[in-house]
Amino acid sequence: MLYIKNLQAIRTMAEGGKLLFNTLELLKSEIRPGISTKDLNKIAHRYIINNGADPTFLGYGGFPAAICASRNEVVIHGIPSASCVLREGDIISVDVGVHYKGYHTDAARTFAVGKISHEAERLVEVCKQSFYQGMAQAKVGNRISDIGHAVEEFVKPYGYGIVRDFTGHGVGVELHESPSIPNYGKPGHGIRIVEGMTLAIEPMINMGCNEVRIKKDGWTTVTADGRLSAHYENTVAIVDGNPVILTASDVSV
Ligand code: MG
Repeated sequence: MLYIKNLQAIRTMAEGGKLLFNTLELLKSEIRPGISTKDLNKIAHRYIINNGADPTFLGYGGFPAAICASRNEVVIHGIPSASCVLREGDIISVDVGVHYKGYHTDAARTFAVGKISHEAERLVEVCKQSFYQGMAQAKVGNRISDIGHAVEEFVKPYGYGIVRDFTGHGVGVELHESPSIPNYGKPGHGIRIVEGMTLAIEPMINMGCNEVRIKKDGWTTVTADGRLSAHYENTVAIVDGNPVILTASDVSV
């Protein structure tokens, strides 16, 4: 289902989005060698609840935690665990959903644990920049595939794998709304982008091949070649024709 939001709804989503942004900032400040992803989950869960919201992911499709915590070769949907203890040189992707006053927002970051390799640093940075390249195309008059095309064109020269089995999506009333937003493809395809759309744009970029596989737990999605993967996501609204990040520290819409 595709839901177009009015300005009031977008403002409410921006409130939830600010809380989500602050949750990610809190996690960033806590990430260090020795902390487990279960600890990170606890910190995020408590913070979201204490601020009058609910963690979207907890129980969603049976997911057992408030956040996804995906280390190194884990692309997405890593289940927080006491046995997943972060080490110097790891990268950790944290994906968080917040349900606030009836609306969901969704955002993810890949953080460095201590000092990481230059190769890992570049992967994380290229993933982040590819989000901005994609988002710049999320404007009235363009079509949905223009977003993924921009991501792909930006990433291509680096030789990284762009995950194709998972995509961005509409978000708000539900966690996953229409349309799907692939991170690759030809421009000028798919539905037109219109005022009031709220989109989770989320490139997932692999150091090596683009193939992924899902582990036996039914969630943990890893790179097929075991190499690193990065993730960068924000919830974006189309306001006055242009994209505005709602999962940010200070949003004026
Ligand atoms: Mg997400």
